[in-house]
Amino acid sequence: MDFDQNNGGGFQKKMFHGNWKCAKCGADITELPFDPDPSRADKLLCRDCHRERTRSFRR
Ligand SMILES: [Zn+2]
Repeated sequence: MDFDQNNGGGFQKKMFHGNWKCAKCGADITELPFDPDPSRADKLLCRDCHRERTRSFRR
């Protein structure tokens, strides 16, 4: 079990650990808030790219 050092909010977010690469910027991804589908492992985005993408999706 891993415990986030940043756990001051009172709720725990389950994180999945592994070795992935961001499809956009190529950064290493070592943890994700979801369990990635292996068939989509080459389309994963790091936290920064994912944030930008979700922001651009918002209307
Ligand atoms: Zn990225």
